[in-house]
Amino acid sequence: MPHVPAAELILPAWREGRAIAAFNLVGIEHAEGIAAGAERAGSPVILAISHNCVRWHGALAPIAAATLAIARGASVPVGVHLDHATSRDLVMEAIRLGIDSVMYDASALDDAANTTATAEVARTAHERGAWVEAELGAVGGKDGVHSATARTDPDEAVSYVASTGVDALAVAVGSSHARPVRDAALDLDLVRRLRAAVPVPLVLHGSSGVPDEGLAAAVRAGLTKVNIATQLNRVLTAAVRRRLSEDPALVDARRYLGAGREAIADEVARLIDVLGRGTPSPLA
Ligand SMILES: [Zn+2]
Repeated sequence: MPHVPAAELILPAWREGRAIAAFNLVGIEHAEGIAAGAERAGSPVILAISHNCVRWHGALAPIAAATLAIARGASVPVGVHLDHATSRDLVMEAIRLGIDSVMYDASALDDAANTTATAEVARTAHERGAWVEAELGAVGGKDGVHSATARTDPDEAVSYVASTGVDALAVAVGSSHARPVRDAALDLDLVRRLRAAVPVPLVLHGSSGVPDEGLAAAVRAGLTKVNIATQLNRVLTAAVRRRLSEDPALVDARRYLGAGREAIADEVARLIDVLGRGTPSPLA
């Protein structure tokens, strides 16, 4: 099974009340580890390239080409997604490069300007066959300025989706980005109300700050796409640190990056299992 449109993974999951995990990558080893973990779990997965990742590489094209190639080579269905793009030009470049799922993030704008800008991007992206995710207000934690107390109002969410035409909505329900520990308590009642009211799949950002049992409960309450970034960096960095401290004379980068890539694969398989079965398991 090669690269498939992310929408083909998200829509059936939404209808059936399942989750689809989207993992953010930094480099090619992340993408390889994520694909390997999904293969081990026998599940589809989405590889997400964030605008910050593009800034880190200095360009989208090289990391997009590598990620799309890894998706095509996987033995499970793999979608590729552009995450938190704050520029319309980057959204259009991603679509040109073959990325069919994009998150346009106009959450820094006020709600009226966000709606106008997102509707325009969604219209253009839809003309090119892409799937569009967006965010109303701000999911906490991005750039350290928002808090986990932000909440998406169901009525505002319904009107935002109707006005913009977006295909999926990132909601603020108690998580926040780059949270150092996995202790966020999600507002599950709000998730259920959003699921009942909003006619498109709901996306959880900041999932790395949510414990296993909270993630499983969030899926049961109605979240469909679960974005995970920080948790993979946590396990990669811990594995690299362990490997280097075991062997201070180690020079070959493959020896420690390999340990990091393996740790990512293990954690991806474990998290897919957590989301899929809704059964909590201990932290890695
Ligand atoms: Zn996010």
